[in-house]
Amino acid sequence: MTVQAANSILYLDGVNKTFDGFKAINNLALVLQKGEMRAIIGPNGAGKTTMMDIITGKTRPDEGDVLFNGEIDLTKEDEASVARLGIGRKFQKPTVFETHTVEDNILLSLDQKRGVFDMLFATRTAKEQARIDELLALIRLEGRRDELASALSHGQKQWLEIGMLLAQDPKVLLVDEPAAGMTDAETMETAKLLREIAGERTVVVVEHDMEFVEALGVKVTVLNEGSVLAEGSLEQVSKNPAVIESYLGR
Ligand code: ADP
Ligand code: MG
Repeated sequence: MTVQAANSILYLDGVNKTFDGFKAINNLALVLQKGEMRAIIGPNGAGKTTMMDIITGKTRPDEGDVLFNGEIDLTKEDEASVARLGIGRKFQKPTVFETHTVEDNILLSLDQKRGVFDMLFATRTAKEQARIDELLALIRLEGRRDELASALSHGQKQWLEIGMLLAQDPKVLLVDEPAAGMTDAETMETAKLLREIAGERTVVVVEHDMEFVEALGVKVTVLNEGSVLAEGSLEQVSKNPAVIESYLGR
């Protein structure tokens, strides 16, 4: 094993995936350190979502290394076991329990064994309540805790889902296009929120909104045709002729 793999939380190398003869992922390499936040950008069809599918065990690559913590081979795990290892994923569309309150959505995620009946009638521990309060403050929904999730805006539902994922204490959080459909103010607040989460956890964010990526202020990986086209600060990759040609200049 290389030194890079040993110190990483996520390590992809030589990853390939072909769908019906189409090479969606082409010799892809990506290394993330513990606590790092990384933005992934690239044109539609670049393979961003497929990369997340491969990390989370939804899609099995044809070949290549996909390691968690430098040792666990994620290509041998299914989605449920990858989630149990501590890799949480947020899809584009929020999936909150609309007919439950904001607070109960977090409670249900904190304790997955707790059924809806228990949730309504069992007392929660002081520790659980403290964690719920902390998460509600982080996702900017403390003042909305008693309202039904259905009353939230699209952006607030995205935050609630981030809170629900954090309730499961993941080591890595994968977030696919969180700013899509958000207002400008929500988009900027989401960048702040993700910056607060990173450090303690590793965060991978796929996003098209360049103002959002700029606000994240982290290293950017540009994907194109299933491989890494460029890596560096947003300023650096924005000046890269290959990036302008394939993506930003269009
Ligand atoms: P991105 O998220 O960067 O827009 P995707 O990862 O969704 O790109 O898709 C990369 C390419 O792989 C696209 O051409 C897409 O049509 C193809 N693809 C993704 N998943 C599948 C699948 N399950 N079956 C067939 N083709 C797929
Ligand atoms: Mg996608």
